Amino acid sequence: MKNEMKLEFDAISANESFARVAVAAFFAELDPTLEEISDVKTAVSEAVTNAIIHGYEGMEDKKVRLHCIIDDKVLQVEVVDEGHGIEDVDKAMEPMFTTKPELNRSGMGFPFMEAFMDELEVISTLGQGTRVRMKKKIGCTPWIQDED
Ligand code: ATP
Ligand code: MG
Repeated sequence: MKNEMKLEFDAISANESFARVAVAAFFAELDPTLEEISDVKTAVSEAVTNAIIHGYEGMEDKKVRLHCIIDDKVLQVEVVDEGHGIEDVDKAMEPMFTTKPELNRSGMGFPFMEAFMDELEVISTLGQGTRVRMKKKIGCTPWIQDED
C-alpha cells in the first residue's frame, strides 16, 4: 500500500508539536506500537526544531516542509528547510556536536534521529538549506510480527 502527504508550515516553535502529531496521525493506519509512535514523534521533533532554530536562525517568515510517504510498511519522512545549510554534515551528525552550546543544546538531535529511525540521510548545501530524510519500518517488532 502507498500513501503520501505534504505539509508546509511557518518556521515557528509552536509548530513543532503540530508537525509530530501530524506525522503520527498520518502513519496510524500502519497500526504502530506506542514505542514506534514515540520514536517517530521524537525524530520528527528533532528535525523540525533544527530547521527552525539552526536552519532559519535570524531569518523571518520562513517555511518548513514535511513530506511523508508510506510504502508498504515503511514510513519515510522528509523535513526540508531553505535556510543556512550545514557546512560539514558528518561533523554535525557526531554525538554531542553543537554550534549552540550557549543555548544549552546538547548536540543529540541527529544521534536521536539515527537511534529512533532505521535510516537517516542528511543532504545540505550552504546557503540553500537542508533536507533530512528518515525511514522506519513499522510493525516489525518480532514478538508481534504477522506471518503474512
Ligand atoms: P540538540 O538537538 O541536542 O538540542 P543541536 O541541535 O545543536 O542540539 P543536533 O540536532 O544534533 O544538535 O545538530 C547538530 C548541529 O547541526 C547543530 O548544532 C547545527 O549546527 C547543525 N544543524 C542541524 N540541523 C540543521 C539545519 N536544519 N540547518 C542548519 N544547521 C543545522
Ligand atoms: Mg537539534
